[in-house]
Amino acid sequence: MANAPQNIRAIKEKGHFEIVWTDEKTTHYPFKYLRCECPCAACVNEFTGERTLDPNTVSEDIVPTEVGFSGNYALKIKWSDGHHTGLYSWDNLDRLANQQQANL
Ligand SMILES: [Zn+2]
Repeated sequence: MANAPQNIRAIKEKGHFEIVWTDEKTTHYPFKYLRCECPCAACVNEFTGERTLDPNTVSEDIVPTEVGFSGNYALKIKWSDGHHTGLYSWDNLDRLANQQQANL
């Protein structure tokens, strides 16, 4: 399991989250990308794992309006579209960083 990061910042000028992990690795997540990867039951079918959220319905200028923690295992984000049920676990964020790199 991934350890809780050292630092998490939402950098609005750059339109992304920056996470500094305990091993000093730094990863970035564009806001829209992270919103589209929301793992909650409203965005992903919890039985099939199929994504039900259509990325085309997410605004290009989506931003986080509130950022908090859920225990010490996940990041909790409230978005400017009002969506707030997604919990991004450290493991998931670690996986998303690798997935993004694979797509570059
Ligand atoms: Zn969601």
